[in-house]
Parts: sequence; structure tokens; C-alpha cells
Amino acid sequence: MCEMAEVLEHADRWECVTCGHEWPRELEPEVPAGPRVVKDAHGNVLADGDCVLLIKDLPLKGSSQVLKGGTKSKPIRLVDGDHEISCKMEGMSIGLKACFVKKA
Ligand SMILES: [Zn+2]
Repeated sequence: MCEMAEVLEHADRWECVTCGHEWPRELEPEVPAGPRVVKDAHGNVLADGDCVLLIKDLPLKGSSQVLKGGTKSKPIRLVDGDHEISCKMEGMSIGLKACFVKKA
């Protein structure tokens, strides 16, 4: 009875030392495609330190204030999560979705 206790490792397959049975190796899992790429509304890749412009008016949650389209941010920082862009705009720290901005 084969217990495959000792196996030989080949580039593309395993081989059982005991009985000579061979079977294919599992393919290595796909490596996730590098660091996350955040793109603005026009498909330009954004990076930390870029400045962005709003392409539409954005009401601010919890206030009656609206950030006008065309407002320019301070240099941005890319963050994980639903709102990929963390930056200051009009003196406030806010999170923005990349689809609502364009690279300045
Ligand atoms: Zn075997």
C-alpha cells in the first residue's frame, strides 16, 4: 500500500519513492498583481504626493458644506479601503474616491 511518505520533487511533478507513482505538482498560486494601482477618473495612475482636483461637487458628510468641483487638494496619500485617497482639502482631512478626482 502506497502512503506516499517519501516523495521525490521534480520541477513539474511528484514521484513516490516507494512505488514510483507520479502525479503533477499543484501549480503555484498566482501572485497578486503587485501593489495596488489607484487611477483617477481619466485613468491616470495616482501616487502619494500627487495633487488632485475634484471633478464634481461633493457634499461633505455630516455638514451642509459642499466641496466644489475643481477644488484642489494638498498632496494626497493613498490608503486602503473604500476611499482610496486621503488628503486635505479646504483645510479639512478627507477621504476621497479616486473616481471623483483627476490628477492636478
Ligand atoms: Zn507510492
